[in-house]
Amino acid sequence: MVLDNLGSSLKSAIQKLANAGKIDKEIIDDVVKDIQRALIQADVNVKLVMKLSNRIKERALTEAPPAGMDSREHVLRIVYTELVNIIGKATPIALEPQTIMMVGLQGSGKTTTTAKLARFFSRKGLKPAVICADTYRPGAYDQLSQLCEKLGVMFYGERDNKDAVAIVRNGLKETQKYDVRIVDTAGRHALETELIKEMKDIWGLTNFTHRFLVLDAAIGQQASEQAKAFNDAVGITGVVITKLDGTAKGGGALSAVSDTNTSIAFIGVGETPDDLERFDPDGFISRLLG
Ligand code: GDP
Repeated sequence: MVLDNLGSSLKSAIQKLANAGKIDKEIIDDVVKDIQRALIQADVNVKLVMKLSNRIKERALTEAPPAGMDSREHVLRIVYTELVNIIGKATPIALEPQTIMMVGLQGSGKTTTTAKLARFFSRKGLKPAVICADTYRPGAYDQLSQLCEKLGVMFYGERDNKDAVAIVRNGLKETQKYDVRIVDTAGRHALETELIKEMKDIWGLTNFTHRFLVLDAAIGQQASEQAKAFNDAVGITGVVITKLDGTAKGGGALSAVSDTNTSIAFIGVGETPDDLERFDPDGFISRLLG
C-alpha cells in the first residue's frame, strides 16, 4: 500500500537526518536523494519529484530555522510542508443534497465506488439514489442494481436503452426526491473521442456538484493524461484512488492530482461497500514520516 511502502523508504531517509552529526549540504543532498528514490518507486512523476526535491533543498539550505527550532527539526518541517503541498487537502464534501457524476476508464472501480459512496452518504443520514448510465460494459447494470438492492439504495437504470444521456435525463427526473444522486457513467478501455463526448453530454444535463474521477492506484504514468482529458471535458472536482489495499503505490494518481490541480476526495481500500475512506492528508503524511 502506498503509505507503507513509500512510508518505510521515507522513514529511513528521515532517520538519516535524525542520526546525522550535523546538518549540512551533504546530508541534505543525501536525504533528498533518498526521498526522490522513494517517490519515484511509488510511481510519482519525475517532474513532480524534481520540483519537490528542489524546493526542499533550496529551503533547507537558505532558510534559517525559526527561534527555538534546531536545524534538524527545521529540515524535517520543510520536508513535511513540501509533501503537504504536493498531496494537498482532501476535496471538501458537504453533507447536504447534491448530484455527483462518476467518471473514469473501465476497470478503475467506478461502479464499486458508486455503491460505496451511496453507502457513505446514507450512513451520514442522507438519502442516496444511484443512476446507472453505464450502457457500455456488459453486466454493469446488473452489478450496480444488485449492489444497490443489497444496500437498500434507490437504483435507476434502463436495461435495454443504449442512450446514456437519455437515461441520465430520465433518472434525474425520477430521483428528484432523493438527497444525493450519483450517476455512474460508462468507461472505455482507453480514452476515446466517443467517451469524452458522452461525458460532456451528460455533464451538460445538470449542474453536477461534483465530478469525481476514479483512478486505480496501479495506474502509473498514464494517470496524468487521463486526468487532463476528463478534466477538460467535465472539470474534475475530486479524485478517488481505488485499490489502495493492494500492492500498488498510487504515486501515478498523486501526480495526476497535482497536474490537474485537483485533490483527493476518497480512497478505496477493498471490494466491499464499506471499504471507502475519506482522504486524510495529515494522517497520510504523518504515516509517511512517522
Ligand atoms: P468499473 O469498470 O470502473 O466500474 O470497475 P468496477 O467497479 O467493476 O471494479 C473493477 C474491479 O475492481 C472489481 O473486481 C472490483 O471489486 C475491484 N475494486 C474496486 N475498488 C476496489 C478497491 O478499493 N480495492 C480492491 N481490492 N478492489 C477494488
